[in-house]
Amino acid sequence: MNRIHLYELDQPALTQWVTETLRQPKFRAAQIWDWLYRQYAPDFATMSNLPVALRAQLEESATLGVGTVVDEQHSSDGQTKKLLFQLHDGQYIESVLMKYDKRRTLCISTQAGCAMGCVFCATGQMGFFRHLTVGEIVAQVLYFARELAQTAEHVTNIVMMGMGEPLHNYENTVTAVDRLTDPNGFNLGARKITISTVGLVPAMRRYADEQRQTPLAVSLHAATDAERDKLIPINRKWPLVELLDACRYYVEKTHRRITFEWALINGENDTVAQAQKLGELVQGMLCHVNLIPLNPTAGYGGKPSSPERVRKFQEVLAAYGVSSTVRVRRGIDIQAGCGQLRDRMLLARAQNSAQL
Ligand code: SAH
Ligand code: SF4
Repeated sequence: MNRIHLYELDQPALTQWVTETLRQPKFRAAQIWDWLYRQYAPDFATMSNLPVALRAQLEESATLGVGTVVDEQHSSDGQTKKLLFQLHDGQYIESVLMKYDKRRTLCISTQAGCAMGCVFCATGQMGFFRHLTVGEIVAQVLYFARELAQTAEHVTNIVMMGMGEPLHNYENTVTAVDRLTDPNGFNLGARKITISTVGLVPAMRRYADEQRQTPLAVSLHAATDAERDKLIPINRKWPLVELLDACRYYVEKTHRRITFEWALINGENDTVAQAQKLGELVQGMLCHVNLIPLNPTAGYGGKPSSPERVRKFQEVLAAYGVSSTVRVRRGIDIQAGCGQLRDRMLLARAQNSAQL
């Protein structure tokens, strides 16, 4: 029998399942909800106010975890922790916790692999395996919430910047956001969750139409189609004019600032000419640019830009009145760039089996 993932269900659906399928009184559903979203129970055995028979029933018919942690990496400064989970069907996903001042930011996955094939991205290099379910997306957050609770800390921010393209898995991603922001449940502010997209234009327009409060980041990385086509194959389908139109549409509809992500690749997209083009493209738009020196990956020869080139790029943007921040990719020493931990583990396994 296929087990139901309890983080898949909103409160009415959980109540219905508990009363109709498990044939239990309604208050049991409220107790289970409380264990899931207030106590962050790691398993059913912990749900001590439920009768043993009900716990056994839950054990048989439901699940609440992400999967098995098969690799765990801590950055040398102790501020970043990355987990590789193996899901019930053998797929791998990565989730990262980053501590910065008082912030506890999670970077979570929305798919196993990714279909978009961006050449510089470790996840893109591995290809697409499957969408994650709502339960699998939400459970990543609860995993860390549980861990942080042990030191009286909380998840303060979430970025959907792990494996996968969130808007390719639109329904499950936005439902997971709804679940995480439910005031009766996990109750995280919608503005604390950022969805990052490679630029799926129709999905971005839908997102704008739905007037969602969750901020949107767009992975731009190039300001001419010739350059973007090389890095991001999906640009051939939705070129820059269409993408920028969709960005403007989003800002108009939601009055929210849009963030552009730009991985600076030495000698590639970090030129003054690219910075000028970017300045021209987004000048006057309610936006901000995040500049991130490229995190090198096994399948791509590009190198991160030097600090001088990063500074120059930023200067050019400033001349167009475009604000930008340089972000240091956190946890580089633990392969915290998306997709890299899975690669590392598969490589280690291949080497081990070669030695046997
Ligand atoms: N698919 C979504 C979200 C996941 S990727 C997207 O593309 O936006 C999260 C961010 O990491 C994106 O901005 C992506 O372009 C960036 N990224 C991927 N590989 C990278 C690398 N090797 N170095 C720097 N940034 C990278
Ligand atoms: Fe997918 Fe984002 Fe990686 Fe592109 S950068 S391959 S969209 S995860």
